[in-house]
Amino acid sequence: MLLAAYALAAEGLPVFFLGRTKRPVANCPGCPKGDPNHDPEACECLTCHGFYAASTDPDRITAMRAAVPRGLLAIRTGGPVAVVDIDPRNGGRIVPELMPPTRAVRTGSDGWHLYYAHPGGALGAKLHGYPGIDIKADGGYVVAPPSMHPLTGRPYRWIGDRPTVAMPPALVDACRAPVPAESAPPRATVIPLSGGRGISSPEALLEANLNAVRNAPRGQRRTRLYGAARGIARMVKAGAITHARAVDELTRVGREMGQPERDIRAAIIGGFRAESVATEGIAA
Ligand SMILES: [Zn+2]
Ligand SMILES: [Zn+2]
Repeated sequence: MLLAAYALAAEGLPVFFLGRTKRPVANCPGCPKGDPNHDPEACECLTCHGFYAASTDPDRITAMRAAVPRGLLAIRTGGPVAVVDIDPRNGGRIVPELMPPTRAVRTGSDGWHLYYAHPGGALGAKLHGYPGIDIKADGGYVVAPPSMHPLTGRPYRWIGDRPTVAMPPALVDACRAPVPAESAPPRATVIPLSGGRGISSPEALLEANLNAVRNAPRGQRRTRLYGAARGIARMVKAGAITHARAVDELTRVGREMGQPERDIRAAIIGGFRAESVATEGIAA
């Protein structure tokens, strides 16, 4: 396991160790979860904050392994690689016309991880139009060989020895396309808000909220993201946008603006709570 970790690190892929159950190990008491004033990227702790602990430094990897001796090896995605994560249990399959042969892992649950060079820019979390396919890029991680899947007991294995190739434009497009809302209300409906105003153009209102974040001066992005979360939470309450899409759009704009994952989540949860909109599942 350590040799595999060193080898990946030598290629420039930051690695860390999950617990035995495929979940990140717990933070130390000094790193409380969800503290918006604590920057996980800057945190010096060896194993706190999940993928933020990932490193390419062999000494640090050795120390991490000593701290989590039985954990699964994982690669922090983003930076050099984006991984197409295909889960057949959810209907995922390799789509040959989109996905050229590349470096690949057969997962311990009969899925595939296809490694591609990160095309730059923000990528969505799901492959648009294809069920059961996630994109692991910025703010994500994948389990790496020779880890064993905790439920099936089967190993993750490298298949073949192809190099990591570039994403073809069609795949990049499918990664960037917005995830469609699962049960969007009819567009033409005017939905009254509590103040008696209507949302006659939900898409324009959504864009305005997101643009407020995009146009925020440095140092105000976190506050603006929180403000946008409140605005979009009100749209959720009014039925103008689904909860899932609201979270997606806010997450995407937060990443676009380079906000750390936990700050993004904290802003969304804070904003939704302030508007009494459900926050279950956001912290996952
Ligand atoms: Zn810590
Ligand atoms: Zn910390």
